[in-house]
Amino acid sequence: MKQKWLIFIVLAVAVMGIVYWISTGFSTRNTVRAQVKPVQTSQEENRGRLPSNVVKANEFSNHNIKTGKLSEAQRKKLLTQAHEEMLTVAKKSGDKEAIQLAEFFKNNAKLAEPISCDGKLGHRVLEKVSNELNFWFVPLDASDQKIEAFHNFFPKDNEDGLAGSYNPDQNGMVYPITQEISPMWRGIYLLHETSHAYHCNSEKYNWRDPKTFCYKELETYEFQFRVASKLFGKDYDVFVKNQADKIFAKLKKENKLGKAWPGPESILPLPIGFKAKSLKEVAVIETSIWLHTLFTLVDSHFHSSDETEIEDQKARILYSLYIKSNVFKE
Ligand SMILES: [Zn+2]
Repeated sequence: MKQKWLIFIVLAVAVMGIVYWISTGFSTRNTVRAQVKPVQTSQEENRGRLPSNVVKANEFSNHNIKTGKLSEAQRKKLLTQAHEEMLTVAKKSGDKEAIQLAEFFKNNAKLAEPISCDGKLGHRVLEKVSNELNFWFVPLDASDQKIEAFHNFFPKDNEDGLAGSYNPDQNGMVYPITQEISPMWRGIYLLHETSHAYHCNSEKYNWRDPKTFCYKELETYEFQFRVASKLFGKDYDVFVKNQADKIFAKLKKENKLGKAWPGPESILPLPIGFKAKSLKEVAVIETSIWLHTLFTLVDSHFHSSDETEIEDQKARILYSLYIKSNVFKE
């Protein structure tokens, strides 16, 4: 039987089939007075088009609404914790862009809480936005597992999951802070998501175009891997390079080069020094090192006078991963 890939991805969008709805104005925990945008149903809409219909606040009673149990103060504490973890990673790496992104997060992340409407995922804003770089930050803790729409962020040990997501349509970032993932890896992935929020809000690119989407992911992953190299040092780089060479030799021998890529399990066992707290953390670390390995393989072994061909090759690796994960349909 084909081994199931266990993948924890971080994305510029949550799986596009998931429907977001948000308050468009400022609301407090106990007073919902904003309009709510849902509800995508058609295949076209599942590709990420803006939702068309609007549920008015006074129609809330007609819908099955579920919210998290945390108070606004508890939710705010999670936001602060997330920022501290990201800043710690950024400072430890010494990477200038990482430090700038941690600063960007501090200045622009606005608190929101998770909420589901008829089983569809959304968020309710708890703070005011003040400029166009602001984005909604929806920190989750284990208590939010009870909200069905957020199950993807709390998968069982044998399921794929989302380590975080940023949705450009709703300008919202969902971020689980669970004990199963260590603060360092949470910090790394939050840097990844924050990079999306920064680029989406400052560049306004067409993220719905799959090629652009994959290129932006590639850019963000290359940033993430540069930070990883700085954090984990030379032994890590040597491990990644050796794995890349091994996979290259195997693919070449099997005549599969450029046609098929091995899954995340190909980099197991994890390099010495990586002590995962849980199976989920194994999946998180594995996914990161695996993609880093494949990109290193392409950089080391694919040769072309046209540099965009090399980048295309890496973007296609991400494209096939997203097809597999149903991020967008072919
Ligand atoms: Zn991403």
